[in-house]
Amino acid sequence: MKIIDISILRHQQPFPAAVGPEHVTLDLLTIATDEGIQGHTFAGGPGEDIASVLLDVVRPMLIGLDPLDIGRVWAMTGRRGLPATVRGAVDVALWDIAGKAAGLPVHRLIGTVRDHAPAYIATWVHRDIPTYVDEALAYREMGFTAHKLHPLTQLRHFDGKQVPVTDDIDLCAQVRAAVGDRHVLALDAAWAYDYPEAVQVGLAIEELGYAWYEDPLAADDLYGYIRLKQQLSIPLMATEVTQGGLTALAPWVVERATDFLRGDVVLKGGITGMVKIAHLAEAFHLPCEIHDAYNSLNNLAGLNVMMAIANCQWFEILAPHAPGSYDIDALSYGLVEPITIDPTGNVHAPTRPGLGIDIDWELLRASGELLG
Ligand SMILES: [Mg+2]
Repeated sequence: MKIIDISILRHQQPFPAAVGPEHVTLDLLTIATDEGIQGHTFAGGPGEDIASVLLDVVRPMLIGLDPLDIGRVWAMTGRRGLPATVRGAVDVALWDIAGKAAGLPVHRLIGTVRDHAPAYIATWVHRDIPTYVDEALAYREMGFTAHKLHPLTQLRHFDGKQVPVTDDIDLCAQVRAAVGDRHVLALDAAWAYDYPEAVQVGLAIEELGYAWYEDPLAADDLYGYIRLKQQLSIPLMATEVTQGGLTALAPWVVERATDFLRGDVVLKGGITGMVKIAHLAEAFHLPCEIHDAYNSLNNLAGLNVMMAIANCQWFEILAPHAPGSYDIDALSYGLVEPITIDPTGNVHAPTRPGLGIDIDWELLRASGELLG
C-alpha cells in the first residue's frame, strides 16, 4: 500500500457556550492510499493553522511511502522545523488507515486491555457560581460520577477581568456542597495562578476532598510544581501542554514535579506519542491521564489509546454547551454517531475498524472548503 495524496477540508464548528469564540475551525485531514483506504483526523492544535505545512511540506514527504510504516513516519515528522501537531495529525490518520486495513479498531492493534472506562465531565468556563452548581447537578443526574471545574479565574483569560482566587475557592466549596461528598471532583486551574494563589487554592480543595489539582502554575514551571507538591497532599497533575512531547517529560518524572503524566494525541505526537508517554509513566508506576483532544476524531484516537493502556483512570469529556442545555455533543461533533457513553457514565471502546466511527461528511461538507 502507498500514500497517494493528502487533502484538507476546512469546516467551522459552531461553539455553543456563552464564554469563548463563536466558531472553532476544524481542518479535516485525509491521507489517501492506492488501495482506496483513507485515514483521517482533524489537524492542528487549538487556534493553530497547520494546513499549509501539511499540504506544501508534508505532502511531498509522504507521497509514495507505505502508510503502515507508522514508526518511520513518526520519526520523519519529528524533524526540526515542523510544528509538533503535524506529527500528531499524520500519526492519527495513519493509525486510522492501519485499523481499516486490518479490519480492526486501532486499540486492537496496540493491544486492548479493556472495553470500557469511567468518564468525567470537564466544564467549560462560566461567569457565576450558580451556573456551575446547576451544571454539576445536571451531569450527575445524567449518570456521571465525576466532574472537573475550569473555574472563574479563567475569566482573566477570556474577559480580561481581575478575578480573585477566593472566587475559585468559593466555587469549589459550593459545588462540593451541592453534589455531596461521594461525587468525584477535580479542579483544573489551566495555568492561571501564581505560586501563592496555587498554595491557597490547593490547601482549600484538599480540605474539600477534591481528587486532583490540575495545572495551577504555568505549564513550564517545573520548579514551581516541585515546590508546590511539597506543600500539598492532593495529587498534582501537570504536563498537559508541555512542549517537546515524550522526551520533554523525563525531567518531570525524575524531579517528581507531577503525580501524573498527561497529554493528548494532538499535542503529544499522535497515538504513537501517547502510547509512548503512557509506557514511560507505567515504568515509574505513575498514571497517565489522557486529555480531551479538542475535537471528535482526536477524542476517538485518545479513546483507542485509553483502551490499550492500563494506567489511565478517566476518559475526559470537555462539555461546552449552550446555557442550560446540558449535553455532551461537542465530544462527537462531526461523527455519524456519538462516542458511546452509557447511563452509568462509562465510555465504551470502538468496535469498528480504524478510529471506529465514521465521519459525518454531509455535515462537514455543508460549509466546508477544500484547501490546497
Ligand atoms: Mg487541563
